[in-house]
Amino acid sequence: MNPKNIDAAFGFLTRAVHGGNETDTETGAIRRPITMANSYELPYDPSGINWSGSDASIYTRNGGANQRYLQEKLALLHNAPDCVVLASGVAALAGVFFTFLKSGDHVVMSDSTYIAAYRLINELFPEKFGVEKTLADSADIEAVKAAVKPNTKLVHIETPSNPTIKISDIEAIAEIAHANGALLSADNTFASPYNQRPFEFGADLTIESLTKYINGHGDAMGGAVLGEKALIDRIRGQAMVNLGGAISPFNAWLIMRGAVTLPLRMRQHNESAQKIAEFLQTLPQVRFVAYPGLPEHKNHGIAARQMQGGFGGVLAFGLNTDHDGHNRFVDRLRIITNAVSLGHDESLIVFLGENDERQYLYGDAFHGGFFRLSAGLEDTDDLIYDMEQALKSAGIV
Ligand SMILES: *Cc1c(COP(=O)(O)O)cnc(C)c1O
Repeated sequence: MNPKNIDAAFGFLTRAVHGGNETDTETGAIRRPITMANSYELPYDPSGINWSGSDASIYTRNGGANQRYLQEKLALLHNAPDCVVLASGVAALAGVFFTFLKSGDHVVMSDSTYIAAYRLINELFPEKFGVEKTLADSADIEAVKAAVKPNTKLVHIETPSNPTIKISDIEAIAEIAHANGALLSADNTFASPYNQRPFEFGADLTIESLTKYINGHGDAMGGAVLGEKALIDRIRGQAMVNLGGAISPFNAWLIMRGAVTLPLRMRQHNESAQKIAEFLQTLPQVRFVAYPGLPEHKNHGIAARQMQGGFGGVLAFGLNTDHDGHNRFVDRLRIITNAVSLGHDESLIVFLGENDERQYLYGDAFHGGFFRLSAGLEDTDDLIYDMEQALKSAGIV
């Protein structure tokens, strides 16, 4: 039996298939099994064990077999030295914030992020721990520079961002953070490692909601943080072992299985979203389209430089109609599902923004309410047809 020893020299597809997998030594199965055990047998003399550590197999909250296999695969896909896998994307965000921030520290955060990142940094960390924050337009380098203070310890961005598809320049913002002795964390969920790998552009911590593209099938939750081992070890100790953010072995196994087809799925998501964005742009009923693959996107050039695999499967758009017209449009869709989340095999749409407390942070185009559409793996023509017939059926002309 030859170990495959998959490393970064292999192509992305090969790493997606073989990364983290080896023949099971006990049974000879060519798939590593799912290990639904809470505890692992201790050595004869356990007195040397660090009960808060993750190096020895002792207890699944300190690290389990399936979690480790998935970490191996994700580190290979991101070209990053280390990875910790946690229970959800939000567990990963909270784990980063909890591990690297304390009272009196200042955070610069993008003004367009996932709602839980906003809740944590804008409200919970300031209220509970006295952490200071500045929300800045991370699409504008000067605004990020101006927001940094001597006590800034973390800059947090999301690119492309949820839900306004804002693009931030990872490399330029990493330089600003590092010049101030701060870390840069980048939420990469909308891109996935197939399209973009923030570690290669200087981000210290890359965050993924595995719930989205990496699992890809809408049936398991998980999160990951990637970076240098010294940083990831701190997250493991604090956020996983002591806060309890460990993933279930079953979910780690499902996500490992989903991740095998990530590159093939991303090609289809990228292609479909680009075609849909271009189609929507031609319609008089469409008020605006935000997609980084359109030359009209404010930071299309930056996206083209850092999103080397493609521009992703998520776009935002608004219709020239009222509140009820937006709801009517969604109601008439037959293929695209009215549900939150993104990166699933099926297309998902959600109507957002009308009574969002963060609306003041969004660009004017978003104020009339808008859709976040995650283009799934259906035939692109069927998705376009579905939107055409829904517009007609909803009487939006
Ligand atoms: C969904 C999402 C998260 C949260 O992930 P969960 O797995 O749902 O906890 C974080 N960031 C972004 C950009 C997301 O889209």
